[in-house]
Amino acid sequence: MKRKGILIVVSGFSGSGKGTLMKRLLSQYPDTYALSISATTRAPRKGEEHGREYFFISKDEFEKMIVKGELIEYARYVENYYGTPRVYVEQKLDEGKDVILEIEIQGALKVKQAFPDTLLLFVTPPNAAELEKRLVGRGTETMDVIRSRLDRACEEAEGMDSYDYLIVNDELEACVSQMHEIIRGEHHRSFRNEVFIKEIKEDLEKLKRR
Ligand code: ADP
Ligand code: 5GP
Repeated sequence: MKRKGILIVVSGFSGSGKGTLMKRLLSQYPDTYALSISATTRAPRKGEEHGREYFFISKDEFEKMIVKGELIEYARYVENYYGTPRVYVEQKLDEGKDVILEIEIQGALKVKQAFPDTLLLFVTPPNAAELEKRLVGRGTETMDVIRSRLDRACEEAEGMDSYDYLIVNDELEACVSQMHEIIRGEHHRSFRNEVFIKEIKEDLEKLKRR
């Protein structure tokens, strides 16, 4: 039986460790998962590459993608646009991969509305002080931007209970395993196995009539 891919959204406060987690998950299970690469109008951070972390594009190019319907969803986040290109996601789901979108909450809720079978995961650090420590420690944003991101975290916390699972990123490796196990479990949900259920029902009927 061909395994059907699950669409998974991973959200979490900026600095909670989503990016780090995703890299570990993908490197441990490269055949299971595909990570969608978003388009954004924000400038690349040191070490980020076009086509690897993001497609870094202009506001003009981004708005053209919106008009052409090339994005599954998009949102504004702290002065910039971020969006999920459609083609890659559809192609990888068809190949049977579990496709992960690492996106913020407005986008997450739009994806859930358009694709109700989406699994929503929310990543959080163990506490607020640790979040600030990680954001500052990452050293990629000015204190002003860090403050905006912490403000945004307060707003995002309001939506945490819309997610299916809460994942506390305390010890990184334990967190990677937890996320993988949650997704594995999700494949066993009966509504994700309708084809199997239909086939076994038909086979049982045939047996009965033999
Ligand atoms: P996000 O993608 O959610 O914004 P990052 O993956 O960039 O977050 O992580 C923010 C910072 O926290 C990085 O410097 C990263 O190395 C660090 N970090 C991530 N996970 C952990 C963890 N479990 N324990 C300690 N530090 C972590
Ligand atoms: P960052 O600038 O730290 O890379 O990302 C800022 C926020 O934008 C994060 O919460 C990240 O999950 C979110 N994000 C990244 N890509 C997308 C996307 O395609 N759509 C939406 N809605 N949010 C995204």
